[in-house]
Amino acid sequence: MAKSRITVDIDLEKQGKHIGFARLPHSVNRSAYGWLPIPIVSIRNGVGRRVLLLAGSHGDEYEGQVALTKLVQEFEANQIQGQLIIMPMTNYPAALAGTRTSPLDDGNLNRLYPGRADGTPSEMIAHFVETELMPRVDLVLDIHSGGASLNYLPCSTSVVQPDAEKCELDAVTLMRHFGAPYGLLLKGKSGIGSISEAATRNKIIRIGTEVGGRAWVERTYRELCEAGIKRVLAHLEIINSQGLPAPDEMLLIEALPGDYVYAHANGLFESAVRLGDQVEQGDLAGSIYFPATLNRPSEPVFFGSSGIVLCERPNAMCEVGDCLLHLARPVSTTLR
Ligand SMILES: [Zn+2]
Repeated sequence: MAKSRITVDIDLEKQGKHIGFARLPHSVNRSAYGWLPIPIVSIRNGVGRRVLLLAGSHGDEYEGQVALTKLVQEFEANQIQGQLIIMPMTNYPAALAGTRTSPLDDGNLNRLYPGRADGTPSEMIAHFVETELMPRVDLVLDIHSGGASLNYLPCSTSVVQPDAEKCELDAVTLMRHFGAPYGLLLKGKSGIGSISEAATRNKIIRIGTEVGGRAWVERTYRELCEAGIKRVLAHLEIINSQGLPAPDEMLLIEALPGDYVYAHANGLFESAVRLGDQVEQGDLAGSIYFPATLNRPSEPVFFGSSGIVLCERPNAMCEVGDCLLHLARPVSTTLR
């Protein structure tokens, strides 16, 4: 595979704590020889497990960006055994703009793996993460949330890839140590360009999260991210477990295609449920109102399946095709 054109201005091989930039060449009118400064940190001490901590793959997901910023400021090299490589704003142009996709190329980083060495900025970042960072680590911990258009109950996540070989580390065990109240298992498809596929190609485990969203930093969820990351690092013996809060009991859940509720009309959606509610197939999910056409009655939206309300759209305005809510249910034995 072609060598990445992104260079790192710190030495990832070196012992100690180093804060710098991954420099993405970006020649534009205001800066002919310029580069985009993607923040990157390496904290390395002795021999041990190595973990890649990512946030900001989607630029409007903030809990992870804040949690990783705090961890970078907290961790010193002598507190760890092994290596942490940390990128709090992985798709930097998107994170800078506060948007899910990059304003430079509309790239959704989690659909672009394996990327391209000479592609658009988002493709170059995907290629860099897959070819320069993943080969250095045993685990990718990739913090996501609902972003501006969704709001999640706190979950750790794992995508079960159809072609994954057995890894030494086990995703569900790591999720239990992360300690979110829900552990969401998703069935992966090959060829959608996700980071989970990239991890599978590198024969390593990737676990993630969905915690909160609505373009907000929910303090308790940010704290959960920090504690969860530390509990995973302690399980891998990278940091000491002393003083860490115990993990929540995790309910393993899955979401099937029928668990997603979509808008069937453009209008204003009022939800009939709250996150965490248990609902049954056929229950009222909410109503869509049409204040611009006053003769048009509101239209109900119903659940197509039964389960726990895991995720909601926090914006009233909706268009046909927008995800309004989604459910999840305790995992069936078939998935594992
Ligand atoms: Zn995301």
